[in-house]
Amino acid sequence: MTSTLLRGRTLSFLRWPETVDDHSAWRYEDDGGLLLRDGRIVAAGAYAEVEKKADEGVKKIDHRPHLLLPGFIDAHAHFPQMQVIASYGAELLDWLNTYTFPEETKFQNAQHGRRIARLFLDEMVRHGTTTVAAYCSVHRESAEAFFAESHDRNMLNVAGKVMMDRNAPEGVLDTPQSAYDDSKALIAEWHGKGRQHYAITPRFAITSSPEQLEMAGALCREHPDLHMQTHLSENHAEIAFTLQLYPQAHDYTDVYEQYGLLGRKSLFGHCIHLSEREADALSDTGSVAVFCPTSNLFLGSGLFDYQRYRTREKALRIAAATDVGGGTNYSMLRTMDEGYKAIALNGEKLNPFQSFWQLTRGNAEALSIVERIGTLDQGSDADIVVLDARATPAMRLRMETADTLAEELFLLQTLGDDRAVREVYVAGRAMKCDLGLNVAMK
Ligand SMILES: [Zn+2]
Repeated sequence: MTSTLLRGRTLSFLRWPETVDDHSAWRYEDDGGLLLRDGRIVAAGAYAEVEKKADEGVKKIDHRPHLLLPGFIDAHAHFPQMQVIASYGAELLDWLNTYTFPEETKFQNAQHGRRIARLFLDEMVRHGTTTVAAYCSVHRESAEAFFAESHDRNMLNVAGKVMMDRNAPEGVLDTPQSAYDDSKALIAEWHGKGRQHYAITPRFAITSSPEQLEMAGALCREHPDLHMQTHLSENHAEIAFTLQLYPQAHDYTDVYEQYGLLGRKSLFGHCIHLSEREADALSDTGSVAVFCPTSNLFLGSGLFDYQRYRTREKALRIAAATDVGGGTNYSMLRTMDEGYKAIALNGEKLNPFQSFWQLTRGNAEALSIVERIGTLDQGSDADIVVLDARATPAMRLRMETADTLAEELFLLQTLGDDRAVREVYVAGRAMKCDLGLNVAMK
């Protein structure tokens, strides 16, 4: 039984930090230690104390002066869109029809799916993301490919085959029954295998018939422990078309409500243009609104009102995500930098501790998996990111005048990207080192 002892500056959150002086919201060790064994953190704290608990043959890795944080969590991304990212000039519905749906037809080819799944997870890890809630394509093979690659890396990921049976080209359509059967088979094969979690994944109301949303609701009832992920209220044309397709619904959220898709494990991408009633409905059911700032800005969808959702009387549970490939970057640092700007345009600020809480513990809480990931607590899975705030000449220069941890975190968020990620541990294994992820991709 080999164990690893990491040394560095450790930062992990206990709760939402109200201000940059809210010190009891996090645990920071200037000379911290993390003892890893069997994929878990078995001891955490001051290095001198943790070292005493290490056995004789422990492998010691000194990451000083870098920061050790829980691995980042991305609550919404589309792995089949690696060759869609950076496509010019469209709003949501045109963007789907012009770029995304044709690209996703390629995933009926299992080999293509396997290649892209491998490159996608490599890219996630290179950017410090150790858990992602991913949409696959409509094809069962694409989910097989994703889970196989995820399981090989021993990553804790959430994913599902997209369900879509209308308003898209033939090559990316299933039927209500085949979507149900394929989802059932994938759940049986992959959910709970190692660290894999299955998410029931109707793409959104436009591409699912009422019969198919009925099937999605049935899957949720039959598997109440599973996640459900879909899109909600991203842009005005989408909302109008949805209400045309579901004329009996009070509003967009009501469509999903009617089929029993709201709940504490339900993740709704975007939620930009919610009415007060819709926000109340999400809050009442503990559903999660997923903030995807780079995507919302890129597609011109709108500004997610993070602080209002968080502080309204019926508060929303919020996660943050890249939404690759509508999103423009794989990095959660870049995502929160854009998030900061979107929130600023709503006249609010997000302080750097709040940002890093969101990327780690906040997203783990939103995904209801904080007992496993999102902190550096003893007993947690050993998913860890090592960050270097002096990774580039410009960052190094700016760090000369940064005196506090808050300033360092804000600099990492504003100037940092994959270059600031020095190492990533997944279930205790050093991934950049082991997988050669510092090297340009072949
Ligand atoms: Zn999306």
